[in-house]
Amino acid sequence: MIDDLMKIFGRSNVGVDKKDLLAYSFDASDVEGSLLAVVWPQNAVQVSDFMKYCSGNNVKVFPRGAGTNLSGGAVPFKGVVIDFSRMNRILEISEDSVTVEPGVILEDLEKRLNEKGKTFPIMPASDKACTVGGCIAEDSAGIRAIKYGTMKDWVLDMEVVLADGKVMNVIDKNFIGSEGILGLITKARLKIANKPALRTLTVSHLDTLEEVQAKVSQYSKEGVSSLEFVSRIANKLAKKPVGGSNTLIVEFEDDRGEIKDPNKVKEIMEHRKTISSQMASIGYVVVEDPRVPVEKTALFLEELEKLGIPSYGHMGYGVIHPRMKESSQRKKIAEIVAKVGANPVGEHGIGVLKKALKTKEWLIPLKKRYDPNNILNPGKVLPDKDVPNVEKIDVCVLCGMCRSRCPVFKALLTESVSPRGMAIYIEKNLSDKVFWEKCTQCRACDSVCPMDAQLSKKIRDKRASLIKQGVETEPNKKMMENVRKHGNPFGKIEEGKSPKELYCC
Ligand SMILES: Cc1cc2nc3c(=O)[nH]c(=O)nc-3n(C[C@H](O)[C@H](O)[C@H](O)COP(=O)(O)OP(=O)(O)OC[C@H]3O[C@@H](n4cnc5c(N)ncnc54)[C@H](O)[C@@H]3O)c2cc1C
Ligand code: SF4
Ligand code: SF4
Repeated sequence: MIDDLMKIFGRSNVGVDKKDLLAYSFDASDVEGSLLAVVWPQNAVQVSDFMKYCSGNNVKVFPRGAGTNLSGGAVPFKGVVIDFSRMNRILEISEDSVTVEPGVILEDLEKRLNEKGKTFPIMPASDKACTVGGCIAEDSAGIRAIKYGTMKDWVLDMEVVLADGKVMNVIDKNFIGSEGILGLITKARLKIANKPALRTLTVSHLDTLEEVQAKVSQYSKEGVSSLEFVSRIANKLAKKPVGGSNTLIVEFEDDRGEIKDPNKVKEIMEHRKTISSQMASIGYVVVEDPRVPVEKTALFLEELEKLGIPSYGHMGYGVIHPRMKESSQRKKIAEIVAKVGANPVGEHGIGVLKKALKTKEWLIPLKKRYDPNNILNPGKVLPDKDVPNVEKIDVCVLCGMCRSRCPVFKALLTESVSPRGMAIYIEKNLSDKVFWEKCTQCRACDSVCPMDAQLSKKIRDKRASLIKQGVETEPNKKMMENVRKHGNPFGKIEEGKSPKELYCC
């Protein structure tokens, strides 16, 4: 099989070594899977050839964007992962739409559009890392859903490769939110909007849950662009809280907000996005995403308070994220959800973790039609008997945000050299030097890690311990050679030049 895959994608776009197999066995959920290989397509023709091969040979296929979903949707179960990270071109920007490949990262898209005075307003809190393909497959919402809705409202059409390799142009909205079980998205045309000239904020700290509900209800009718919430318990637990009480952050796309300095507005919104990982970093690793009717907000939050469960969320869209320490507590949330009549799955998809809670009924006939042999993302979304292997990683929460800053990942676009990949290798206590060679120790991952995992130090410590054991990593080998030959770690130094001048920028 591997030779056949190499014929389709080229040798450098097929990964089969231990590094790849480990790094791709996780996404941002707690689920651990296993795979035979990972492939990185460059275009739709390759994807089509690949699907023809897989359907002819009954090979299971697991699509993946940035692996930031929280329901195990991108975790493979003994098949081939198709990682769209290298199909990341913005193909065309017109006055009212943009055409992109699936691996384009939302933050990168937004930067390019902003240069032209435009915006793509769907902004999940994971926008630094998550991809257009993943967001379409999940029908992602985000911090501006109160005004702009979800991906469904912004996808004009898509190019999709079906299980038998057929390439199809799709305008059927049913493909949006199908979590990779109907077809592989290889291109998408998205609606865009004019970037608002102004964004201002009002931050309210509210003592009672009744006040929270009343404010949410009031703001929902006032045309705000974002209404974010952090609960009193979450604020109390967070290392960097956004307030002392229940906090509502209200964003206006005009001058109604009290905070008008654009830098401060950006800083507060970015700070709010870190609450999820801040909770995870102190052990609240389990997250749910119910969508609660506005008139039940106070009741829902009161039930969480009784159990001491911290929460935050996109209140304008009704999505509240309770955070828990143990998976067993999910049951409690399901009971509260049933009690208040909420939707158990608001924005994170069903994946493998939510199959017992909800079914996307409309997908059942479509799955039979488009993938009758069930080779696309099997074990996901639709009910079956599979029970996932749930594994807690201690090194970090695997959110994947560090992908956005690591220069090594950005150059090679494979999870096996990403900081997250290395977090997995540390967890697994791997001692083979090839796992640790690529990191430059630039510390960019630390600057963006919301849980302050200090991964660069962990990598450094791991290297140091290997060196003590006599294992020489490539960078270390070179430095030691230089020390032996030239008496310094930098190599031959030209007369009159200091090492600093030669090697520092
Ligand atoms: C810190 C953090 C904050 C988050 N905040 C939000 C939020 O505010 N709102 C929200 O909605 N979600 C949020 N999420 C969840 C997650 O980021 C979204 O679900 C996102 O859409 C996943 O995108 P991805 O590129 O990482 O996709 P992946 O996780 O790689 O994949 C998601 C699903 O899409 C499928 N898929 C991926 N690419 C393709 C393709 N080309 N064709 C077909 N199927 C494909 C996969 O098989 C999988 O089922 C958050 C996650 C984290 C870690
Ligand atoms: S190191 Fe930090 S940013 Fe990277 S995956 Fe782990 S928790 Fe996320
Ligand atoms: S310190 Fe290493 S892992 Fe972290 S961003 Fe830099 S190169 Fe990547």
